[in-house]
Amino acid sequence: MPNNSVSEKPADLNTLRLRFRGCLLGGAVGDALGGPVEFLSWPEITARFGEQGVLDYEVAWGGKGKITDDTQMTLFTAEGLLRGWVRGAMRGIAPAFASTTAHAYLRWLLTQGVRNRHGLLNTACLSGWLIQQPALFSARAPGNTCLSALREMKAFGEPARNNSKGCGGVMRVAPVGLFYASFNESDAARQAFDMGCKLAALTHGHPTGWLTGGVLAALVFYLARGETLNTALNNALALLKTEPAHEETLHALEHAQTLALATVSPHEAIAQLGEGWVAEEALAVALYCVMKARSFEHGVLMAVNHGGDSDSTGAIAGNLLGAIYGAATIPSGWLQALELAEVVQGMADDLLDYRDWEISEYNFTPFTEAMHKKYPGD
Ligand SMILES: [Mg+2]
Repeated sequence: MPNNSVSEKPADLNTLRLRFRGCLLGGAVGDALGGPVEFLSWPEITARFGEQGVLDYEVAWGGKGKITDDTQMTLFTAEGLLRGWVRGAMRGIAPAFASTTAHAYLRWLLTQGVRNRHGLLNTACLSGWLIQQPALFSARAPGNTCLSALREMKAFGEPARNNSKGCGGVMRVAPVGLFYASFNESDAARQAFDMGCKLAALTHGHPTGWLTGGVLAALVFYLARGETLNTALNNALALLKTEPAHEETLHALEHAQTLALATVSPHEAIAQLGEGWVAEEALAVALYCVMKARSFEHGVLMAVNHGGDSDSTGAIAGNLLGAIYGAATIPSGWLQALELAEVVQGMADDLLDYRDWEISEYNFTPFTEAMHKKYPGD
């Protein structure tokens, strides 16, 4: 178990920033480490990279350190939440996060060369700084469910009409936990959990496909606030248990907890938990690796070295490990070679700082105007 048993609340701003950056940069690093082996079996991985598997970035998508759809969609999740916040504050209305995040996901869909079938796009959708990052316009094995659900979406924010529990819902919602971490309301954790569910459900209709999103959002929420992994997990599972149809997700996560305490090798344990193509397996594999990790590097390499969906398990584990250990513990070589690292870090900073933005319809300060240009309302 990570040595994070001492609660650090209230954390100073620098500690918080390291956790926020660690969460998003850690996820991107795990994604980039796992991308080259996503579709390889374990024998194929060891044949190509040696007995221990990958220990560093390998070439995929035209280079080393390239992110995949997991990180792309994580960035658009963050953008959707931040634009919802700006839009609500400007208009004096309650933010409609599912709608603004659906807008953001449709911008991601455009970067994949796909358009919504019902014309749910307009020029406003194409505004903002994230869509102007040329490197995002690249298909990195996007999930079929994400593509088809967004292509078929008939109204902004409506839940997907499918029965998919692929891991594409959960692997992108870590920003939800960061976004709600600064909420003062007593039910902020519940809000994070519910929003994690809601945003995953934009593309994944099976309860396990979106309840896992709620659990990841809640885990990140608690870890960002400095809670121990044990406390974060217990609290997240308590939220999960209040939901109908939670059993499949709960059993997978309890299995991960049991295996983390057992004398079984990581390879055997991960094989028992599954390959991670479906949501409860991806979250369980990631959680197991986080519970067993001696460091960020140890945990994230464990999470990508198996024959399953390595980039998604690496991304989720990286989100959690980064939130626990902080960005300063991520090997600097991995950060320096990470594609879009500045964008990922900037997004983490915005998720920490947005509550301090002075947003008013009639009184833009230069700073506020810049933020409005960065995250315009939809
Ligand atoms: Mg991927």
